[in-house]
Amino acid sequence: MKIQIPEKAKFIINTIEAAGFEAYVVGGCVRDSILGRVPGDWDITTSAKPEQVKGLFRRTIDTGIQHGTVTVMMDKEGFEVTTYRIDGKYEDSRHPKEVTFTPNLEEDLKRRDFTINAMAYNESKGLIDIFGGMEDIQAGVIRCVGDATQRFKEDALRIMRAIRFSAQLGYTIEEHTAEAIRVMAPTLRNISAERIQVELVKLMTSDHPDYIRRAYELGVTAVVLPELDACMATEQHNPHHRYNVGEHILHSLVEIRPDKAGRLAMLFHDIGKPSTLTTDEKGKDHFYKHALVGADMAREILRRLKFDNDTIHRVCQLVKYHDYGMGQEPTAYLVRRAIYKIGEELFPLLLQVKQADIMAQSDYKRQDKLNALDKWQQLYRQILAEGQCVSMKTLAVNGRDLMEAGIPSGPAMGEILKAALQMVLEYPERNDRKYLMDWIAAGRYKE
Ligand code: ATP
Ligand code: MG
Repeated sequence: MKIQIPEKAKFIINTIEAAGFEAYVVGGCVRDSILGRVPGDWDITTSAKPEQVKGLFRRTIDTGIQHGTVTVMMDKEGFEVTTYRIDGKYEDSRHPKEVTFTPNLEEDLKRRDFTINAMAYNESKGLIDIFGGMEDIQAGVIRCVGDATQRFKEDALRIMRAIRFSAQLGYTIEEHTAEAIRVMAPTLRNISAERIQVELVKLMTSDHPDYIRRAYELGVTAVVLPELDACMATEQHNPHHRYNVGEHILHSLVEIRPDKAGRLAMLFHDIGKPSTLTTDEKGKDHFYKHALVGADMAREILRRLKFDNDTIHRVCQLVKYHDYGMGQEPTAYLVRRAIYKIGEELFPLLLQVKQADIMAQSDYKRQDKLNALDKWQQLYRQILAEGQCVSMKTLAVNGRDLMEAGIPSGPAMGEILKAALQMVLEYPERNDRKYLMDWIAAGRYKE
């Protein structure tokens, strides 16, 4: 096994070795190199103590000196160099209370989560693979290093990491590791929402976002996303659907590109269905207002998981409007109104959401739905090409024009501008300053 280590990392390893210590690239970069993926960062593990590492390089930063990590700066690029360590007892499934440095590489590899993440490599010693990481890569397996239950007890975040890596790599979770996840899932309550969010986003933007199904099967979503479990338990007797609500959601995830807001929008687009279910006298299920209810639920869930406001806004808008105009004949007016409601910037993503939703439904009327969506696309392109007004920004009159015409600023002015925009959405050719000023002067906005 030969790994191409970047020159700068090689220089760091050589310098440390020349001073009489050991040093290896380790963890994610070794795994990704073996997989032929481009590693995000090259972490280095060494027998040298942090102070000794600092003594060997001109520019270093004390990144996490109490955990043994020093960042060595090479030009503008930083490399994390961490001393071999044994993690001490963990407090409440979260942080190691203390770490102990060790001169033994094996001890350092033992503290790592999964066999595929517990390999080290350098040019003098080659691949150090004590726990069968290579074999597990070849078999496509996520397996804990050592006793799985114990490892999850030390740090419950590893439960999320196991599922996330399986989704990123398309791997299965080894039986004992899976069983330990099932047993330890409730301890995820001790993990901060921020850390769960990071893993959820990596899972959602991976090649296999639908592997969240495994999280459901192993009782993980019951703890971090119980709303999904409710969907998995909700059948939908309706010709438009072939799956229950949860399975429809999972199938829709793989139908959209790996964009964070897009994938999260699919995850939540039907989350309002379980609580809006009604069954008519013919036995057909309906979910009136599920998009609106779902947008509110998505906001609550995303807040609980401490997502940023921009992401919350984007995802909730997409959830709220995912069904907008469905079943109606697409007209330019409908599309302009949709662009206005969801926002010009988000609109292209809404079209992707709609497409993914259709693809995860039944075949019933699928071609009609796709044809209608095509028409949405065409109308959208035409609206763009003609530069038609779809927002207050591009309305031919603004507050200043109205003020000059003697209308005082305030809520009334806002109403006038809104009425003008509503009209222009319907009749784009009327987006003309003179026309609109005359229309306003004549008091027609009151109609
Ligand atoms: P990526 O950077 O793609 O998320 P990675 O494997 O590099 O994947 P990092 O979080 O960067 O993951 O961690 C680097 C290495 O540190 C891992 O490969 C693993 O060996 C170890 N590690 C990280 N988090 C944990 C953890 N919670 N428990 C045990 N070992 C961990
Ligand atoms: Mg990494």
